[in-house]
Amino acid sequence: MENLIEEFRIFIKKKGLKYTPEREEILREILEVEDHFDVESLYLRLKNKNSKISKASIYRTLPILIEAGFIQEVYKQGGHSFYEVTLNKAPHLHFICISCGRVDEVIDKELNFLIKKHEKDKKYKLLTYHLEIFGICPDCREVK
Ligand SMILES: [Zn+2]
Ligand SMILES: [Zn+2]
Repeated sequence: MENLIEEFRIFIKKKGLKYTPEREEILREILEVEDHFDVESLYLRLKNKNSKISKASIYRTLPILIEAGFIQEVYKQGGHSFYEVTLNKAPHLHFICISCGRVDEVIDKELNFLIKKHEKDKKYKLLTYHLEIFGICPDCREVK
């Protein structure tokens, strides 16, 4: 964790931005989130810990974290974005229910293998990817 904080501090300074305790607090919290999160849920997590972080400072910090490669935007739902920590996480698919909003993650080795093959063919250096698959979940379909 401390290495990542240090990495972030260096990134911020390189960008000529100010390194603030708020930004560090937001990053520390994000690194503890296991699941996907949006601004609202992050704000509530911090608030529950008696943090004084405002939604505005979360909105300002997220783009910096994306640029630094710590998090990525994974899907939009109800008009706002959800994010996840990209570090130490295998690329995966998201099955998204258009009826209730449930999201299931799938890690598929064969698909990862295929994408690696395309990476080679295209001579790209792959950083990460995410795929969104929209449908109706078993609960909404009432399939047991
Ligand atoms: Zn559903
Ligand atoms: Zn995910």
